[in-house]
Amino acid sequence: MKTKILTILSNSDGYVSGQQLCEQLGVSRTAVWKVINRLKEEGYLIDSVSNKGYRLLSQPDVVTSEAILSKLQTNYMGRQVFSYDEVTSTNTVAKQLADEGKEEGTLIVSDKQIQGKGRRGRYWESPKGSGIFMTVILKPKMKPVYASMLTLVAALALNDAITDLTGLEAKIKWPNDVVVNKKKVAGILTELSAEVDYINYIVVGIGVNVSMKDFPEELKDKATSLLLESGKSIGRAQLIAKTMEYLECYYERFLKTHDLSELKETYSKVLINKDQVVRILTEDDSYTGVARGITDEGHLIVEKDNHDLVEVYSGEVSVRGLYSYT
Ligand code: ATP
Repeated sequence: MKTKILTILSNSDGYVSGQQLCEQLGVSRTAVWKVINRLKEEGYLIDSVSNKGYRLLSQPDVVTSEAILSKLQTNYMGRQVFSYDEVTSTNTVAKQLADEGKEEGTLIVSDKQIQGKGRRGRYWESPKGSGIFMTVILKPKMKPVYASMLTLVAALALNDAITDLTGLEAKIKWPNDVVVNKKKVAGILTELSAEVDYINYIVVGIGVNVSMKDFPEELKDKATSLLLESGKSIGRAQLIAKTMEYLECYYERFLKTHDLSELKETYSKVLINKDQVVRILTEDDSYTGVARGITDEGHLIVEKDNHDLVEVYSGEVSVRGLYSYT
């Protein structure tokens, strides 16, 4: 009922009468009043005027399931939310919940991560209250070998959501980072549970720097936040909901072909590396070339100095600009 009342108040410009809420929800006035009070305690500023009703004046920047669901317009993506104050990492919790059988689209969100993870054992800085740390469970019926493409699908969704809500020109640094003004605002970590030819589930973890004003010394030259770049406070619940909407849409298109043939043109348009010189860093080698786009499988196409085209697989490498992070 809290989610329903919040949804009605969020979608209304003016006052909503207590009577209207009671009738719409089929509950008593006292029940409505109790929920309104609970919302006020949580930081929602709600004006209550006798004979007029309730009006939502402002919302706290929280990542509770009510805050997210009251803004969500999807069929299944993010429809079931598990929200926490603190977790080791949302991917870890998501894997436990997926093992218990939680359905596709289930979303795990936390206000803070103690052990936020990046690719290959790296860390993800996840301070309390200023970022989005979330993971969505997916269960596509396809071969495990296709799973890594979902990182690119999620990057596209996240990039669109950030652009929509901030007006910033967000770009993707292949394969899994969203950058603004050449610095990283978000990253994606996809993990897989599979049999040889069957996917049990995939967890797609997304970290976004929303309102950090500062970063640890070692990240200062490559990390930034939406607040630092746009000067605007972006509601985290709103951005989560918007990302889920785009993700559902792009995921559905991906499922039609099980590759990126439908999405690669859109992806290439926001690929910051496109036609730029990149340095490809592998475990024991590094070389430079010009990034030309991606293949249907999501590999980066790099033109080497001798004009040979090579396909770079995301598992093995990091990509850098020649002189900076991008
Ligand atoms: P790289 O970012 O080095 O190209 P990558 O994309 O493979 O590599 P990820 O696994 O996406 O790296 O992210 C982990 C890395 O991102 C960490 O090693 C750290 O340098 C950086 N990082 C950690 N926390 C944040 C953050 N909140 N914002 C931006 N960058 C971060």
